[in-house]
Order: sequence, then C-alpha cells, then structure tokens
Amino acid sequence: MRTIPHFVGGKEVAGTSNRFSDVFNPATGEVQAKVALASKSELDAAVKVAAEAFKTWSVVTPLQRARVMFRFKELLEQNLDKMAALVTAEHGKVLSDAKGSTTRGLEVVEFACGIPQLLKGEFSENVGTNVDSWAIRQPLGVVAGITPFNFPAMVPMWMFPVAIACGNTFILKPSERVPSASLFMAELLKKAGLPDGVFNVVNGDKEAVDAILAHPEIQAVSFVGSTPIAEYIYHTGTAHNKRVQALGGAKNHMIVMPDADMDQATDALMGAGYGSAGERCMAISVAVAVGDKVGDTLIEKLTPRVRGLKVAPGTDPEAEMGPLVTKQHYDKVKGYVDLGVKEGAKLVVDGRDLKLQGYENGYFLGGCLFDNVTPEMRIYKEEIFGPVLSVLRVPDYATAVKLVNDHEYGNGTAIFTRDGDAARDFAAKIKVGMVGINVPIPVPMAFNSFGGWKRSLFGDHHMHGPEGVRFYTKLKTVTSRWPTGIRSGADFIMPTMK
Ligand code: NAD
Repeated sequence: MRTIPHFVGGKEVAGTSNRFSDVFNPATGEVQAKVALASKSELDAAVKVAAEAFKTWSVVTPLQRARVMFRFKELLEQNLDKMAALVTAEHGKVLSDAKGSTTRGLEVVEFACGIPQLLKGEFSENVGTNVDSWAIRQPLGVVAGITPFNFPAMVPMWMFPVAIACGNTFILKPSERVPSASLFMAELLKKAGLPDGVFNVVNGDKEAVDAILAHPEIQAVSFVGSTPIAEYIYHTGTAHNKRVQALGGAKNHMIVMPDADMDQATDALMGAGYGSAGERCMAISVAVAVGDKVGDTLIEKLTPRVRGLKVAPGTDPEAEMGPLVTKQHYDKVKGYVDLGVKEGAKLVVDGRDLKLQGYENGYFLGGCLFDNVTPEMRIYKEEIFGPVLSVLRVPDYATAVKLVNDHEYGNGTAIFTRDGDAARDFAAKIKVGMVGINVPIPVPMAFNSFGGWKRSLFGDHHMHGPEGVRFYTKLKTVTSRWPTGIRSGADFIMPTMK
C-alpha cells in the first residue's frame, strides 16, 4: 500500500505519528493509499522550518518572487493533465472539470505574478511642511492554509500563490481525503526555484489543525470547508491572536423570473446543480421558481435532463458526473434524499438506485430532483453537497428575495431574468457575497476576490485578488522629516501637521 508523506523543507518527509487515513478511489470504493496524519510535534517541526525560511524569503525582491510564480505557472500548464488525473483519482470528479477547476487556480498564480505592482505602496509628499509619509505592506511571517476535499488543487491555489508572493512562508494542511494534488504542487514549486521551506505540506486531521490554530509562530490562517468547522477555526484562531479568514458552507439559490429564457435557465441549473456531483460550494442547490407556471416549466424541462445525466467514473470522457467522494458522504447525501421524501417534498427524479456495472462498490448517486420543497424542510435549510436540486415555488419576486436573505448561508446566488430593473434591484438588495445575473456560478476571477456573507464566511477578508494581498500583509505607515537647521526641542503635545 502506497503511503503519502508530508513535504517539509523542500523534500518529502515520512510521517512519524503512526497514524494514517485511508485515501479511497471513489469510483471503485477501493483504498488506493494511506496518508500520514501529523502529530503536533511534526507540525511544530514544519513551522520551525518555515520560520527559518521566512528570514530570507521575506527579503527576496518582489520581482524575484514573481519570477518563481511565472515558472510555477508554466510547469503547472505543462502538467495540467497529470494534475487533473490526480484530482479525479482521489476526488472522483470528471477529468474535464478537474482541469477546468485547476485552471481557475492557475489564474490566481497568474495574479500573483503581478506582485511587484500589487505591493506598490502609497506616498504622500509634504503632509506637513517638509514631512513626507508613506505606507507599505509587509509580509506576516509563517501563514497556514487548511483546505476542503472538493477542490484539491484550486482551493489551495486561492491561498498560497498570493501568500508566498507577498513574502510569507506557508504551511498547507490539505484535506486528508485528497492529499496528492498538494504534494504535486510542492514538487512543481521546488522545480520552479522556490527555496526550500517556503511552501510545506503537512497532512493531517484535527490534531494537525488544532496544532496550527494554537501555534504562536503562525500569524494567519486561511480556511475553506464546512460552516461548523469554519466557525471553530475562526474563534480558536482569533483567540490565539491570529488573522483568520474562514470560508464555510453554502445553500445557493437561483431565482428564475417569469420573463427568463427557460432553456437557458434549465441549462444553467443542470450544470450548476449537478456538475461535480453537486460538491461545489457555489453549486446551485435551490431553484426558486417565481410563479407556478415557471415551476411547472422548469420541472418539465429538467426531469428528462436529470434522468439522462451520464453518471460514470470521472476518467470516462463521456461522463457528466462522477461519484461522491466517500461512502460516508454518499450515505449522508442519500440520507437527505430519504429525509426529503419523509418531509413531504415531491421526489420527481430519484437517483438513489443507480448502480454502475463494474463499479458496484463506487459511490455513485444519480441526479435527484425535488419539487414542492418548502422553507421549513431540513432539505432546504441544510447544505446537502450532492447531486440534489430542490425546486421551491414562490408567488412573486419579493418573496424570492426574502427567502434568499433569510437563509443562514450567503455564499452565491443568481437571478435569471430579461428585466434589467429586477436584476439591478436584486444585485443591490441581496444579502449574499457573490451574485450572478443570468450567470449561475458567479465565481469571481482571480484578480477579484472570492467570499460569501453571513455564515458562509467568518472573518473580514475574501480570498485572492486585492483582498488576498491585504490579508497576507500588514500595513506600515512611515512619517519622515529630515530637519534642516537647529531643532526647536521636544514636543509634548500630539503633533498636528503645519
Ligand atoms: P470539512 O469542514 O469537513 O473539512 C475542511 C478541512 O477541515 C479539512 O482539511 C479537514 O481535515 C479539516 N477538519 C475537518 N474536521 C475538523 C475538525 N473537527 N477540527 C479541525 N479540522 C477539521 O469540509 P469538507 O467536507 O472537506 O468540504 C466540504 C465543505 O466545504 C462544504 O461545506 C462546502 O460548502 C465547503 N466549501 C466552501 C467553500 C467556500 O468557498 N465557501 C469552497 C469549497 C468548499
């Protein structure tokens, strides 16, 4: 059995804790490797290495740091197929989607290549007579990232390219279900010329996470995962005086107005609801039909499409949807479908009995479609994170907006309409961090920033883009005077500029 190690100080390091976690192939249900789970002392050792590397990396010029990013970008492009294969092997998503999401991560690397421009400070001349003032942003030190299973390459790349380009050193604790993509990125970064110790991968579970949260040398923690853990990370990390950005779960609504192009809306719901088997924090899991006619049309158009979804191993080029990530997650999602039926929602398409020949032990669930879901049901309130789309019917636009605004999550949302006025009103009033207008998955580009509202994000900063640069740097303001002639002596009152 293959053992997946850590990567510290520029090389693979075998785990010493004697604790391991199984890494499954979700298409077959087989254990394909065991990943080492770090102890507190292994995490401490990695932080020591990263702290040492910070001393030199933080004073490397931004231009040279950017050049490492340029080389990493090229290597990643050359190895896109290999990276996608690693993602599919452990996560299960279809190869084209693995490639697409890795490319979205690569765009953050491209953003980080512009770090000399991004770190340009502010300068104010003559803020007082012969006094100048300038503000600069400096790196924090050792920072850490803790990432979820659903984007093994992209989500780490929301974090470390910006962190490293800003001059920090990084400890990545990837999801123990999908560790290989992170180790491959570590290898490519080394090939790109990144000095040893700047980027480290420490595999692990709660023990490693808790060690990160309490470590006095770690200055900031970026987290992406489920809401209960995000909240825990935020409170524990900030209690240890760290900067924390913790992105959590989601329940993303797509409002379909009566004037929308129904074919376009149906296509959007198919891709956004069932792509990556619904295991995306920006997946649409609720379609809000404004008016019964819209509800009927959507159900009529969606039903044959959901039934006809091509579910197959992610390596099958024809596959539209692969398996769920683990047996445990499969059971959880299936449990929600059972619950929806019990709660009285109408299960229009039931994917629970799907069995794939030759892959009987894989975690395949067919697409499921619920109609007549109501706001009181748990299948509406809670994040399911699987290929399950709920249709809710509301009488008017105002009720739809209230529904979205009252929901505890506020990651993404979309409106489908031909009415510019409704779209503008929606963008202005909706209490959600990322909003799409006839765009079902409005993921901001790398040079903008990604993040939700309400219980989808704990902390102040969104990820990557300008917010990322702010998160990974601290501000210093310098006020300077070079006196000429004879000094007048000490001042005992608060200085005001003259
Ligand atoms: P998760 O919260 O179970 O795990 C995320 C990370 O936290 C992993 O590295 C895991 O090892 C660690 N972890 C898990 N339990 C822990 C505990 N008790 N104490 C300390 N650390 C712990 O999330 P997941 O199942 O890997 O990912 C799916 C979730 O992530 C979904 O809720 C999804 O919405 C969310 N997500 C959010 C975004 C976003 O941008 N908001 C993006 C991707 C995924």
